[in-house]
Amino acid sequence: MDCSIESISKNHKGYLKVEKYDDETIDILSDAYKTVLENIEGENPNREGLAKTPLRVAKAMQFLTQGYQQDPVGILKSAMFKEDYRQMVLVKDIEIFSMCEHHMLPFFGKAHVAYIPNGHITGLSKIARVVDAFARRLQVQERLTTEIKECIQETLNPLGVAVVIEAQHMCMVMRGVQKQHSVTTTSDFSGAFEKPATRGEFFQLIQSSLK
Ligand SMILES: [Zn+2]
Repeated sequence: MDCSIESISKNHKGYLKVEKYDDETIDILSDAYKTVLENIEGENPNREGLAKTPLRVAKAMQFLTQGYQQDPVGILKSAMFKEDYRQMVLVKDIEIFSMCEHHMLPFFGKAHVAYIPNGHITGLSKIARVVDAFARRLQVQERLTTEIKECIQETLNPLGVAVVIEAQHMCMVMRGVQKQHSVTTTSDFSGAFEKPATRGEFFQLIQSSLK
């Protein structure tokens, strides 16, 4: 894949899918990462294997933070349909890849998202794309969980939203306390999911996925 290809496609409802690199930002980031390399004691930033590393890291960083350029509300609205279905809609095992804002190291795992429609449903793939739009930023898992919940609640106005995220944080695994298999679980609920029975049903449905 050629990372520098710019592709912008517009779907019929008008939200932009952007996969592009801002050359000016890439230059600034590359210079910054070159400085980082120069300051890693014992390393030689001029050796062959590292020659293009600042540029690659700059592009990777722009890719991993592309969520700032995405519009989660627009994503949901691009496939919003009137529908009388008023039962739980659950999308589970959505892969998430994010970066902790404290160490800029990855955290990754699964998100489970449910909502109970109140007149409108959205495309199932849009739920996963909303998760991505918030995950591809510098995040903490707690805020990521709440942002997904609030975006769906405010845009679809459903009877309730439930979000559970389980993730492993490389800043815990690779450094610091080195708790290598610890999984952090966060959850947030609104509306009908604040009732124990509904929440219980949700947990039962995602049980097979929970570690
Ligand atoms: Zn961290």
